[in-house]
Amino acid sequence: HIPVICIDGPTASGKGTVAAAVAQRLGYHFLDSGSMYRTTALAAMRAGIPIDAQHEPELAALARTLPVRFAGGSIWLGADDITDAIRTEEAGMNASRVSTLAQVREALVALQLSFRRLPGLVADGRDMGTVIFPQAPLKVYLTASAAVRAERRHKQLISKGISSTIADLRADLEARDARDANRAVAPLRPAEDALVLDNSLLTIDEAVAQVIAWWQA
Ligand code: C5P
Repeated sequence: HIPVICIDGPTASGKGTVAAAVAQRLGYHFLDSGSMYRTTALAAMRAGIPIDAQHEPELAALARTLPVRFAGGSIWLGADDITDAIRTEEAGMNASRVSTLAQVREALVALQLSFRRLPGLVADGRDMGTVIFPQAPLKVYLTASAAVRAERRHKQLISKGISSTIADLRADLEARDARDANRAVAPLRPAEDALVLDNSLLTIDEAVAQVIAWWQA
């Protein structure tokens, strides 16, 4: 029996940061499932495959055979370190587009399941609790207001020296959320048994502490 904690939620809700911190505190493995959709989208661009429904079989074949490697904090596609390349806003938007395709989602299931190893896993995504690990004993739906999420993304980008406006970022993340929530397969929504955590007014440490408290309850 390998314990799994799912942390799902919308873009820039703080999921990634909170999930990684919870994993570290518990000494568990960490799955950043969004990085797999980002990597698939990047591999498609590099292979010249358009990201649309007509190319679903090719995109799924690509996803199924991705030469992706997760090493420490870095992600490799073949011999290329793509850690930074998949973090752009454009890469996120392309990931959101490729993730609407059912065959691509199916192709990435085995890779995601392979992260479930002892002593346990913290899985970050959109459908960890609803599709990939439906038996997980703790499912958290981490959210925050669109205004707060846009501000946080803005600060993050400034720290990387990337300029943008809060209004543009908010429009982008709302567009991505709308696509994620309205797609036919694995739409973004809390699992029926998820605990909802709105961290608009919480620090990262407070959100992490809440998840750990639920886990130990
Ligand atoms: O979490 P992240 O922003 O890296 O995810 C990028 C995109 O990948 C999301 O906008 C979503 O469309 C898709 N995704 C998904 N299912 C997941 C994780 C991410 O559809 N489990």
